[in-house]
Amino acid sequence: MRPATELIHAGERTDAGKTTSLTMPIYETSTFIFESVADLIKYQEGKLNGYLYSRYENPTVVAVEQKLAAVDGAEASLLFSSGMAAIATAMMSLLKSGDEVVCSAAIYGGTFHILEDLLAKFGVAHRFVSLDDLANLARVIGPKTKMVWFESPINPTLRCVDVRGVAAACKKAGVLSVIDNTFAGPLNQPVLSMGIDLSMQSATKYLNGHSDVTGGALSGTRALINPISKTRRLLGGIMDPLPAFALGRGMKTMPLRVAQHNANALKVAQFLEGHRAIERVYYPGLASHPDHAIATQQMTGFGGVVTIDVKGGKDGAFRAFDKLKVIKRAASLGGVESICSLPILTSQYGLTDEELEKAGVSKGMIRISIGLEDPQDLIEDLDQALNK
Ligand SMILES: *Cc1c(COP(=O)(O)O)cnc(C)c1O
Repeated sequence: MRPATELIHAGERTDAGKTTSLTMPIYETSTFIFESVADLIKYQEGKLNGYLYSRYENPTVVAVEQKLAAVDGAEASLLFSSGMAAIATAMMSLLKSGDEVVCSAAIYGGTFHILEDLLAKFGVAHRFVSLDDLANLARVIGPKTKMVWFESPINPTLRCVDVRGVAAACKKAGVLSVIDNTFAGPLNQPVLSMGIDLSMQSATKYLNGHSDVTGGALSGTRALINPISKTRRLLGGIMDPLPAFALGRGMKTMPLRVAQHNANALKVAQFLEGHRAIERVYYPGLASHPDHAIATQQMTGFGGVVTIDVKGGKDGAFRAFDKLKVIKRAASLGGVESICSLPILTSQYGLTDEELEKAGVSKGMIRISIGLEDPQDLIEDLDQALNK
């Protein structure tokens, strides 16, 4: 069935026969009863479809994992207590001492610190390459490279890389391709169908969509997901049943939400592009974006994040930022509420001028996560803030 149908029905009633509940209940339990020693033996031998302990698996979580697998077009999916738990568990599971990870120069700060502060201690090396190098990946992959980890679009410039190209180069070199697909999501950018091995998302963002759950997600083949599932048992980063239920509820309306985020963001981006207080607008859906062509080839929608460069640099951006009324000043993205952040005070905090320039980040940037309010109200809010 198609994604909109799968998101509503996948995983629901998977306990049918036990209850007649239309929706999957919240199994708020840490453990599960076995009726006999015979059942316990059958479970351990994989002959009984049951549950042992909620750090391993929980029926509410499994139900939402089935929705995720359906929308990602994956054989198997896993949910985690945060995006960071998903990233750490995937890397700890798939990498060993002596391996090297190649990543795009601009990646999520948390991912950067896992590589830089944590995995480096265990003998896993990493190398950052520029987006242009990533497009010529075959040149960049070395004998120790085990994994290529990248993002597209990238925060906050929304620069894009050729996802199919990276996947194909990795396949040819026998290297795992992993994308952090948080910004686009599977409806706008179905990365597994483009040949990517493992898709990671912060479920905190568009998957849940209501700014009230922290979660992470991984999707891929069963062969890749099974060992990660074992590592998840050890590290203990599985999502709890209560947030899983909220996430599953959010995911049912994802096609509607994502379509509206796309439409609202495009409208706002088009308005801002003509504004006299704006230096530049970064949105992959605009013809002026440097990666508009590749974005058009690989995305069916351009997402809900718009970044602007305000005239007057830091002072201009700070002034406009403080004047916004409908759009709230908060980190994160992907919720029904429009929120905005200043890259130099969040994702790029503490970088030198040189490092900022390398990341393509200016001091006058404001990143806006366009929500589901009436876009005209967002436009008027931005207009009044920028005019001041
Ligand atoms: C938010 C985010 C993460 C981390 O996810 P958490 O749910 O905050 O742990 C990773 N990658 C990207 C691109 C993100 O935006």
